[in-house]
Amino acid sequence: ATAAAAAEVPIVPSISVNHTQLLINGQFVDAASGKTFPTLDPRTGEVITNVAEGDVEDINRAVSAARKAFDEGPWPKMTAYERSRIMLRFADLVDKHNDEIAALETWDNGKPYEQSAKVEVPMFTRLFRYYAGWADKIHGLTIPADGEYHVHTLHEPIGVAGQIIPWNFPLLMYAWKVGPALACGNTVVIKTAEQTPLSALYVSKLFHEAGLPEGVLNVISGFGPTAGAALASHMDVDKLAFTGSTDTGKVVLELAARSNLKPVTLELGGKSPFIVCEDADVDQAVELAHFALFFNQGQCCCAGSRTFVHERVYDEFIEKAKARAIKRTVGDPFKEGIEQGPQVDSEQFEKILRNIRSGIEHGATLEAGGERFGSKGYYIQPTVFSNVKDDMLIAKEEIFGPVQSILKFKDLEEVIHRANNTRYGLAAGVFTQNINTANILTRSLRAGTVWINCFDVFDAAIPFGGYKMSGHGREKGIYSLSNYLQVKAVVTPLKNP
Ligand code: ADP
Repeated sequence: ATAAAAAEVPIVPSISVNHTQLLINGQFVDAASGKTFPTLDPRTGEVITNVAEGDVEDINRAVSAARKAFDEGPWPKMTAYERSRIMLRFADLVDKHNDEIAALETWDNGKPYEQSAKVEVPMFTRLFRYYAGWADKIHGLTIPADGEYHVHTLHEPIGVAGQIIPWNFPLLMYAWKVGPALACGNTVVIKTAEQTPLSALYVSKLFHEAGLPEGVLNVISGFGPTAGAALASHMDVDKLAFTGSTDTGKVVLELAARSNLKPVTLELGGKSPFIVCEDADVDQAVELAHFALFFNQGQCCCAGSRTFVHERVYDEFIEKAKARAIKRTVGDPFKEGIEQGPQVDSEQFEKILRNIRSGIEHGATLEAGGERFGSKGYYIQPTVFSNVKDDMLIAKEEIFGPVQSILKFKDLEEVIHRANNTRYGLAAGVFTQNINTANILTRSLRAGTVWINCFDVFDAAIPFGGYKMSGHGREKGIYSLSNYLQVKAVVTPLKNP
């Protein structure tokens, strides 16, 4: 009761929100309609501030600014080294404002401040430094074609990149998308998620202070079916990158196809297996499986949301997983030592509670949690279900919340089949000391990432993306560059005509 009570007196962050307008052509401006929408504090449901609401007209303005900056320069015409320098200066400025940016992220999203300040903002600058490093290392090939020709390829930026990002990692999703697009010399219009518009506006101002020319990066706050759809279907956007739900991914892919066939990268949902093998050290396996699911309030597309446990260690695992969930510290994300803050908004909060009820109704055993935490804001008790069956909704649908579903298995062949029996294929976790088991699982699991004896390792250089309905393409690492480059083949006769 004391912990719950503490969560209900929210700490007031020691910052003020400076930027709430749209960022178009280097200027903060109101929406053409003059409309605004509130962004809420998930700890209380109260309004933090009102933000300009971008719509079709604003997307049009932003795309023409990005078009002009691309066609007339200076961005794509600068030397790659100059672009790299601006990106590095930007990372330095973000470092200087680390704590304010982290506070804004936590205020808008609800994630623990320690995670924002010590992990996410530093990772944001790491990503920009990584991509700055690529800017002057992008080059084509010379090709030994048949005949008397000199053949080479030019790797050119595609043009105006439209980017749509979700609310679970507002800063990191921005870095994954803006970083490679700008390093390759493209210009950008990014639409942030309506739940979390604030941190992107703050850092984009710093980007301009670092010397980014106007029009190169435009930031539109607003809703999906209006601003998002306008960006996806815009005839003058040359490339679209989207992260969000699989259902919305289908919508934007269709909008892209119906308009100008812009190429699309998609990073969508998941129902990732986390497989605890019979040789596992149970204490370590419990801790890692707990992290794999509960990290970021369970709001990760790659969350290890189907915990498969070998029957030999199953009972012990359940007892310990339950004890670990009960021990998880939930409360005001600005308080030190808090592992879990509120969910991002009332919609997600209600959806998670519906999923919990569905688990109970379908006969899964509720081992821990199961209800809201406290009586204010969007907090949910860390919840654990055992005895989960493959055909239950909680084992099939993405919950995106602090709800662990534990399933029992007997042998490897069986768990491979069950782990792959999903429309998703984003990630998988494997916990074993046996190298053969690890190799067999790694090669059999149909997922874009396999973490062995670790989880959620998100280095800038490691590619990330999905098989099957978890998406198209890869972000981060060298693989992300091809999303933002055209290849031009140039053929020259060696003899004069
Ligand atoms: P979630 O359900 O987690 O909010 P969404 O896929 O709906 O996931 O949202 C991810 C991003 O996609 C957000 O920026 C949202 O505004 C945007 N979005 C939602 N619907 C559409 C749409 N019809 N067209 C374009 N973007 C959309």
